[in-house]
Amino acid sequence: MSVSPQKPDISFNQAVDSCAPCAAQAVTNSHAAGSPRELADTLEPRYPLTVNALRQMEGGLVHLEYILNLEQRWGKIARGENPLETEVLRYAAPGEMPLAGAEYDLVYCGGVLGLFSAAVMARRGYRVAVFDQRRVGTSHREWNISDDELQQFVEAGLFSRAEIELAVAGRYKSGLVSFYAGNIPEPPAELRLEGVLDVAIDLSKLLELARLKFEEAGGVCLDFRALKMVTITATGPVRGVVEIVDKTGQVERLGTRLVVNALGSISPLSLHLQGGKPFDGVCPTVGTTVSGLESGPGPRQANPGLGDVLVSVAHAQQGRQYIWEGFPGHAGEMTVYLFYYDLVQPMLAGNQGLLDLFEEYFQLLPTYKTPGPDFRHLKPVYGYIPARHHRPTQSASRRGIISVGDATSPQSSLTFCGFGSQVRNLPRLTRLLAFSLDHALLEERHLRAIGAHQHNIGLVWVFSRFMSPYDAVKRPDDVNRMLNVFCAALQQTGPGLTRRFFQDRFGWLDYNRLVLTTAWRAPRVFPFSLEVLGPGGIKDWITDYLRFSADSFLRTIYKKTGSRLTQRLEKRLARLAPALALNLAARREEWAASGLL
Ligand SMILES: Cc1cc2nc3c(=O)[nH]c(=O)nc-3n(C[C@H](O)[C@H](O)[C@H](O)COP(=O)(O)OP(=O)(O)OC[C@H]3O[C@@H](n4cnc5c(N)ncnc54)[C@H](O)[C@@H]3O)c2cc1C
Repeated sequence: MSVSPQKPDISFNQAVDSCAPCAAQAVTNSHAAGSPRELADTLEPRYPLTVNALRQMEGGLVHLEYILNLEQRWGKIARGENPLETEVLRYAAPGEMPLAGAEYDLVYCGGVLGLFSAAVMARRGYRVAVFDQRRVGTSHREWNISDDELQQFVEAGLFSRAEIELAVAGRYKSGLVSFYAGNIPEPPAELRLEGVLDVAIDLSKLLELARLKFEEAGGVCLDFRALKMVTITATGPVRGVVEIVDKTGQVERLGTRLVVNALGSISPLSLHLQGGKPFDGVCPTVGTTVSGLESGPGPRQANPGLGDVLVSVAHAQQGRQYIWEGFPGHAGEMTVYLFYYDLVQPMLAGNQGLLDLFEEYFQLLPTYKTPGPDFRHLKPVYGYIPARHHRPTQSASRRGIISVGDATSPQSSLTFCGFGSQVRNLPRLTRLLAFSLDHALLEERHLRAIGAHQHNIGLVWVFSRFMSPYDAVKRPDDVNRMLNVFCAALQQTGPGLTRRFFQDRFGWLDYNRLVLTTAWRAPRVFPFSLEVLGPGGIKDWITDYLRFSADSFLRTIYKKTGSRLTQRLEKRLARLAPALALNLAARREEWAASGLL
């Protein structure tokens, strides 16, 4: 009997994420047990396919260390161990604030999605600084988004359409949603989506352009600085001081009116703000960018005109329902992901390893697409994509600090598109930020109205629960059965609703139509929901539904009252009762960003 070697003990260190070239440039270096080769030799008996594939990729072996670090960090977050080595956020009396070297209106901690919002704010004339432990605006990923969402960059006044085109890595005609229908009574029902996740963006190009615009507008980029501490006045006028440290250990202090937490899913500030439990759901995700897949129109061939948005090719395996994604990118290449939906719970944490998932990926890839004679893995992609089940009572804001991007995870727990969500909400976020700065509305009760959250996304949580097998041993086909019914219901309700659903832009009538059509086609959805969600989950769903209904009712009144009248009211309130005006504007902006006005 062979004995599996243990994973080497890699001591915990600060944020090292899935972007290897970025992580290699980070201020905080990780501590590997030996060189990449030694680590590969140690891990090879347990992960032979993964180590072998990484050996074939240029610079592939360095990823082993990043993956292990990420696994460790995620494990601690999922177990609720709150892996904060030091205090990161404190409130102090105004007289006890540290002295700052420079003063800003906004200091953005984290320079990926945060950089877009920072650039818009700098172009509006605010004094803005962005720091990151890497070079601000660094990312070597490709992300998918739609043209509708990209248009929001134009609306926010950041990029022209021509500038965006410079960063488009590829486009395809339609996106496939298809679930395995072997040996189940439900007929297969696949969807072809138009205008959803059909544009692949070269993020490094887009971020470089954002950085250029930011600096042209007077924004200050502080590269290779790690967060040390945020101090905010406990009383009196709101003001923060952000302490950052560079590679040599030198500390700088930045004074600011508002701190923006854009440190991503492993943000120490989010851990602090949300009591060590920032997320409810997660998609452990692995994959590779590949070339040389057999090309053609067949289901197991790569089709440059077709992206796979959500595809399953088997029932539950290893207790999980694996989902594939595949997006054509640069000529002849495709980025393929394998992931599954899971909860963030202490007892599940030990099971969510990325290396185990990679091993499955390399083994199962030929069941998804057929490698051709010149097939190659070019680079790995991986990460934990987090989701929260949004409740208006929860907030990742406090007096003087607000969170954006994965640090607050406003995206849908079904599509997990953090980039798309942030871009779609960019005009909303920046307009509301400007209003709160102009009117000194910087307390938590004000800031919680600002963000990319949408009422309809709260209801998506239930859908994401149906993506995990309930009883994978006895009924491994549960997820595919339900999803084929659901796709048939979407087919019946038509392409408009389908598109709105996948873009998180569905309204109250859409939602009811969809649920009723699904239930009509498969009445077993009722007992199944009770089984999967349990009484607590059903109660949460009813609460979400009532909130969404109340919000829809308000929106109907708003539309009936006439938006001009309400906007005039908002203008008047901005002078008389700015906090109320902010709340009204926040509602209106949310409806607009959700595509409901
Ligand atoms: C494999 C994968 C594929 C994805 N595909 C898509 C897609 O196709 N479409 C889509 O919309 N979304 C996609 N996503 C989600 C998307 O990547 C995230 O929503 C997005 O990266 C979030 O950006 P962010 O700026 O909030 O966080 P991050 O990208 O994590 O950036 C956070 C920044 O903060 C810095 N930082 C962290 N801690 C510190 C510290 N202590 N001090 C200083 N700096 C620090 C980091 O260096 C980093 O630059 C994908 C995610 C993964 C993992």
